[in-house]
Amino acid sequence: MKIIMKFGGTSLCSADKVRNVSKIVKDYSFNNQIILVASALSGVTNSLVRLSELVKTSNSEKIVNELEKLNELHTNISKNSIKDPNIENEVLESISSTLDELKRLLEGIISLGEITPRSRDRIISFGERLSVLVVTGALKDIGINAEKFTGAEAGIVTDEEYGEANPLMSITKMKISKTLQPLLSKGIVPVVTGFMAATQTGDITTLGRGGSDFTATILGAALSADEVWICTDVNGMMTTDPKIMPNARTIPQLSYSEALEMTVFGAKALHPRALEPAQENKISVRIKNTFNLSGSDTLISNDQSVVRGKVAKSVALIKDVAMVNIEGAGMVGKPGIAAKIFDTFAREGINILMISQSVSEANISLIIRRKHLEKAVNTLEISLLGRGFANRVNAEDDVGVIAVVGAGMQGSQGVAARVFNAVAKKGINIRMIAQGSSELNISIVIKEKNCENAVKAIHEEFEMGTP
Ligand code: ADP
Ligand code: ASP
Ligand code: MG
Repeated sequence: MKIIMKFGGTSLCSADKVRNVSKIVKDYSFNNQIILVASALSGVTNSLVRLSELVKTSNSEKIVNELEKLNELHTNISKNSIKDPNIENEVLESISSTLDELKRLLEGIISLGEITPRSRDRIISFGERLSVLVVTGALKDIGINAEKFTGAEAGIVTDEEYGEANPLMSITKMKISKTLQPLLSKGIVPVVTGFMAATQTGDITTLGRGGSDFTATILGAALSADEVWICTDVNGMMTTDPKIMPNARTIPQLSYSEALEMTVFGAKALHPRALEPAQENKISVRIKNTFNLSGSDTLISNDQSVVRGKVAKSVALIKDVAMVNIEGAGMVGKPGIAAKIFDTFAREGINILMISQSVSEANISLIIRRKHLEKAVNTLEISLLGRGFANRVNAEDDVGVIAVVGAGMQGSQGVAARVFNAVAKKGINIRMIAQGSSELNISIVIKEKNCENAVKAIHEEFEMGTP
């Protein structure tokens, strides 16, 4: 089989874990062609994001500190996961020269006095550039013929949407099959940086937080892989976040659309856009536990299997959201108000996660990311108030969205009522409701402090914890 194996930061954050990953690759590479995608080590991308903030303040002491911590982390893990002194020295030298390059980049940005989305992407791409050095070294150390690539070198070409770049799939497919395909038949294991790619003119871009999953499926599509494995720290996609509900259960199988609804609504185990290249090219994606590879896992494929008796498969929670309510008798029967709101938000780059309008039309409620709240209220007030459209815009920043997902909900009656009852029985008030037209999900908005209890109540109501 040809398998893309992506290892997340949590699978790589100590020498033991790096050795575990190398052993997995060794075991599987006897009978399979393996392409490895590595994320940055846990916490490293956050540290680089901090550095990209620190350059604005030119606080050189803090910058030197962060760089020193990055050096220590990568050096220690390399020293403890690589035995051969020649390989170890080579890796340590590469870490040091990569960090020097990062330091020079930061100095350049400080002297220019401004950081652009383009230079920010260059900074945050260093996490993966450093992690592949360690991983490639550890693989070579146990006799694997491994070769490292940045996403750009491998051939991933994107547009110029820095921070959330989109792959240009036809050129990307062509380039990747030229660079990586010939290596596979020679028994070489390519090790590719997740998350980072480049524009057609060679400027570095990133694919959005959690984007190494996306890298893995882009490679999967380009190389017509049999499977893409997203190896993480839990047993696949579960009925809910196991950190909230310890009896959360692995969902053995999901269709692309069900998995997409889950990821869009906060199931962090997979980057939502990662399913696009997989679905388009019908590549199966497995979510597996790096620390328990033979344990239960989730297969995401074209097959929309409805497990009998299970109408709702999973419940997810998104916390960093806010609700905006627009009220006014002037909105009744007047066309174009919703369009005006969407237009205002689109111009400001504010994404709407949920919308609901009462039948009386005197009220529209929207859910957006919390970081956009102030800008959203200000721009709505300017464009709607005092023009006869609406007479009040108010906001709540202490809410969360709970999304119940499952293909069995399509056309099945009474699911919404069961969700509402389960939550009501706990004395929790629902502030807003929406159902996607796909009928694959029902979402409710409640006060943030009640969210975890509501997730538990819904998980119990639909007996998601039992097979
Ligand atoms: P990685 O470093 O491997 O990319 P992430 O932290 O991005 O890992 O994603 C894995 C985490 O996602 C899990 O540790 C788990 O807490 C969280 N998570 C949230 N919802 C779910 C869910 N429904 N199923 C599985 N994991 C979930
Ligand atoms: N390192 C990146 C992040 O932390 C990408 C990833 O981990 O998938 O967002
Ligand atoms: Mg992730």
